[in-house]
Amino acid sequence: MNDYHMHTAFSDGEGKMDAFVARAVALGLGEIGFSDHLVPRVCEDEFGDEGYGIPHQDVAGYARAVRRAAARAGVRVLLGIEVDYVPGAEAELETLLARERFDYVICSVHFSDGFAFDSTALRDDPRWDDVDGVWRTYWDTVARAAAWGRFDVVGHLDLPKKFGRRPSAPMTGAEDAALEAIRDAGLAIELNTSGLRTAAREAYPGPGLLARAAVLGIPLTTGSDAHRADDVGRDLDQAAALARAAGHTTTLRLSDRAPEVLP
Ligand SMILES: [Zn+2]
Ligand SMILES: [Zn+2]
Repeated sequence: MNDYHMHTAFSDGEGKMDAFVARAVALGLGEIGFSDHLVPRVCEDEFGDEGYGIPHQDVAGYARAVRRAAARAGVRVLLGIEVDYVPGAEAELETLLARERFDYVICSVHFSDGFAFDSTALRDDPRWDDVDGVWRTYWDTVARAAAWGRFDVVGHLDLPKKFGRRPSAPMTGAEDAALEAIRDAGLAIELNTSGLRTAAREAYPGPGLLARAAVLGIPLTTGSDAHRADDVGRDLDQAAALARAAGHTTTLRLSDRAPEVLP
C-alpha cells in the first residue's frame, strides 16, 4: 500500500522527514509522499499566529528537504502538497504552486464559506448551529475546486463529519454533483484513514460515497494523514478492505499514474 498524505514540522506535523521515511520502510510500504499544507493567506489569517501551512518563504526549502529525504530513502518518496481551496484564492494558489514541480497536488476543502469547520478550536462555534448549511456549502466548494483543474487528488471527502455531525437528511444530490465534477475533471479521490481516529469513526469518505466513486470510475489513492511518524501507514490494511468492499479493485500509484491491484 502507498501513503500519500503525511505532514511534517514544515506545516502542522511533528518531526523530521527521515523518521517518516524510516517508518514507511519498516512497514514495507510501496511508495510514499509528503503533503504538507500550502495555504492561501486568507485561510492563515483565520488562525492569527497559529498558522498551519508551510510559511510561503519556506516552500523551496520544503521541496529541497523532500528531495533530500528521497535521495537517501529505501522507498520511493514523492513531493506532494496539500492545498487549501477557497473560492477567490485561485490566483494566489496558482502563483504558489508554480514555484515548485510537485509530483501531485491534493485539493482539500477545510473551509465552508470562511468557517474552518474541521478546527478543534472551533468545534463548538455557533456556525455549527447550521449543520446542513456547512455541509451544503462544503459540497458546492468541492465541486468548484474540482472544476478549477489545478489538482490531482481530492483529499478527505466528507471531512465535515469529523466531529460526528451529519446532515439532517441525505444530501445525495449535492454529493453526486461533487463526485461528477471530480470525475469530469479526471481527478482521483483519497481514502484517508484519519477519519477512523476521530468522532466520525469512519475513514474519509464513508462507504456510500466510496461505492458511488467506484461506479463513476473515479480512481482512488490512499493516505494516513499522519502528523507524526508513528501514524505513517496507519490502518491502510483496513483501507484496502474498505475499498474492495465498495467495489474498487485498484488504487492509483501516483509516481506513474498506473493502477495497482488492491491487496
Ligand atoms: Zn486536510
Ligand atoms: Zn492533511
